[in-house]
Amino acid sequence: MKHVLVIGGGVAGMEASVRLSQMGYAVSIVEQSDKLGGKLNRWHSLSPDNSNASDLLGKLKSQIHQGIHKHLNTEVLSVIKNKLHFVVGLSDGTDLKTDAILVSTGFDVFDAQKKEEYGYGIYDNVITSADLEQIFRDEDELKTTSGTAPKRIGIIHCVGSRDEKAGHTYCSQVCCITAVKQAIEIKEHLPDSEVFCFYMDLRMFGRKFEDIYRDAQVKHGIQFIRGRLSEAFENPDGSVMLKAEDTLLGKPLKMNVDKVILMVGMIASAKTKKIKELLNLQIEDDGFYSIADTHYESTKSSVPGIFVAGACTGPKTIENTINDARAAAIQISEYLKQ
Ligand code: SF4
Repeated sequence: MKHVLVIGGGVAGMEASVRLSQMGYAVSIVEQSDKLGGKLNRWHSLSPDNSNASDLLGKLKSQIHQGIHKHLNTEVLSVIKNKLHFVVGLSDGTDLKTDAILVSTGFDVFDAQKKEEYGYGIYDNVITSADLEQIFRDEDELKTTSGTAPKRIGIIHCVGSRDEKAGHTYCSQVCCITAVKQAIEIKEHLPDSEVFCFYMDLRMFGRKFEDIYRDAQVKHGIQFIRGRLSEAFENPDGSVMLKAEDTLLGKPLKMNVDKVILMVGMIASAKTKKIKELLNLQIEDDGFYSIADTHYESTKSSVPGIFVAGACTGPKTIENTINDARAAAIQISEYLKQ
């Protein structure tokens, strides 16, 4: 039986493993953390349908049967390619002989502390979209540091994305719809609050995204301000002064808010950089893996026998990540049948 090694046990890695196993291949997953699921473990609800992240995670995990070999808390230490297969050394002492490798090393969330001017890690009432998901997931209320419900909340789009200074000029794709989802959730928890989204332009590309955006304005009264935040300052009472330019009115703008949510983008993961060296893979200027052909072979890497799937080749929604994983399983199967 031919064998496929999957590096990374997040959404793409889990889905591809299940599909490959269903096709009759022996599959091993190597995951450096102590559990499968990747970033989905830390998310509360998903756009655009507000479904529970834990439900999807449960569905994906339930398909990982005993026959799929899991190496948790394990890293790839070495890879040797000979004519017919790869020999992979793992940190748990295993030496694996495999016929193909799927790399699904996902993404990292942009470290908002790198945008020092926004005050994350300096001002307590500045948090990120990932922090907010955790608050909702733990069924906590969104509160100011003094323990009160925030009355005015500023949501800042494009933090670490489309930003030359931050080193990431691409759009992270998912954060506009996440901002709108989170803004609505805040209004549902705190109906008397005012929520302001500061955006450069809104990229509501997915099915139903525009409808959700319209509902956010009409049904929930969320206000959208076209402008990029330049700086945030903490006031003596702990509230935060936002300085931006309203680019529709062409005027500078100052606003005091009680809480700031930074919509952090997706960046190439540290794992991606590590695995690139071991497997001799190519990466693009944005740090994500190169692919053989954008339209036709989007899960083939630059090395024969090695495939790539999910957000390690660029920002993706979960839906696109799952589809990518299925496409990778098909491409691997075609390769192994040759
Ligand atoms: S999806 Fe929206 S918030 Fe995210 S980087 Fe693109 S434009 Fe900015």
